[in-house]
Amino acid sequence: MYSAPGVKISPDFPIPDKMKAWVLGNPGELKLGEKPVPVPKRAEVLVRIDAVAICATDLEIIDHGSPALIQGGLPFNKNWTPGHEYMGTVVALGPGVDEFPIGQRVTVEIHAGCGQCKRCREGMYTSCHNYGLNYGDVDKGHRANGFTTDGGFCEYQVNNINTVIAIADTMSDEEATLVVTAGTAMYGLTELGGLVAGESVVVTGPGPIGLLGAAVAKAMGANPVILTGTRDNRLQIGRELGADHVVNVRNENVVEAVKRLNGGKGVDYVVECSGAPNAVNEAIRMVNRGGKVCLAAFPHEETPVDVAHIVRNNIYLYGIRGEGKSATHRAEAYMSQKRFDATKIHTHTFALDDLPTAIRYAKDRVDDAIKVVVKAKMDAANKVAAE
Ligand SMILES: [Zn+2]
Ligand SMILES: [Zn+2]
Repeated sequence: MYSAPGVKISPDFPIPDKMKAWVLGNPGELKLGEKPVPVPKRAEVLVRIDAVAICATDLEIIDHGSPALIQGGLPFNKNWTPGHEYMGTVVALGPGVDEFPIGQRVTVEIHAGCGQCKRCREGMYTSCHNYGLNYGDVDKGHRANGFTTDGGFCEYQVNNINTVIAIADTMSDEEATLVVTAGTAMYGLTELGGLVAGESVVVTGPGPIGLLGAAVAKAMGANPVILTGTRDNRLQIGRELGADHVVNVRNENVVEAVKRLNGGKGVDYVVECSGAPNAVNEAIRMVNRGGKVCLAAFPHEETPVDVAHIVRNNIYLYGIRGEGKSATHRAEAYMSQKRFDATKIHTHTFALDDLPTAIRYAKDRVDDAIKVVVKAKMDAANKVAAE
């Protein structure tokens, strides 16, 4: 029977001692095993994971390791569980926790910083200076589930209460897994960027973050919102999520198209989500003088950038890591008010046991997959939908 000193549980939500958990072996190798159900400490809750979405970063980590950092190194063969975009139900409260009732449906942010470094104190906990320092004699208590601590491809996980967001009952499990993606887009546009209503935005690359970036920008009153990419079906979803214009970069010069669509001028913001080799050079030519370019995708290779153009035109260029300054709470507010329909990017659901198949769908974009979700407890309707 699951119990620990000071931890509150409820007979309504029985918790087993052991749970199913996928573990990363060698690069690309996931094994289904068993782990003890983790125990929440002070300021933590235990979340029963009801759904977890697969992110491009998960695929990157499973094959290449980085940006996961486990015990100071790559995450392979360390009995470590990846997965970070999950939602679920609070089923146990750590000592002193009264912020959430047991039974509360929640979604989670990824990063709980150390809480004591300069960036954490500024609310930029995704840029914590003690990233990954949570072991041995360098234990600063940093958590980024699925990056520096065990993640969500399992049945239960502990979360710091600062990373837990109550969700509306009207929000489905699948939709709730997308809150953190929308929160990341929001962090780039508002908290780091300073976007105000009426400013113009280009989003390059209609992956999940790009599509929700267009949705968030529109919900915040950006005008116009232009989405660029190579796949017409994804650009069409972008239109449905709020993009005023879409540009297929295979058909026309993207910089000229952006300027034509914005009255001959560059836009105030570009959110670069494609990771394409020439993306930065194109972005700095789409943005107007004094405008801002948010870099949200990481290319594998270093690419030359026209620095002189950036300097001459006073362009701000900034990277974004994750979802700081509680932006995820604001994203949840937009989504629960139905300001955009994130479910348009959810395409497939599989059982947790079928994670390797789910990953193949996400990676190879089988059947036009965008966001693929796995659930520990599949109901009958979901099973049919996935087949
Ligand atoms: Zn992610
Ligand atoms: Zn910190």
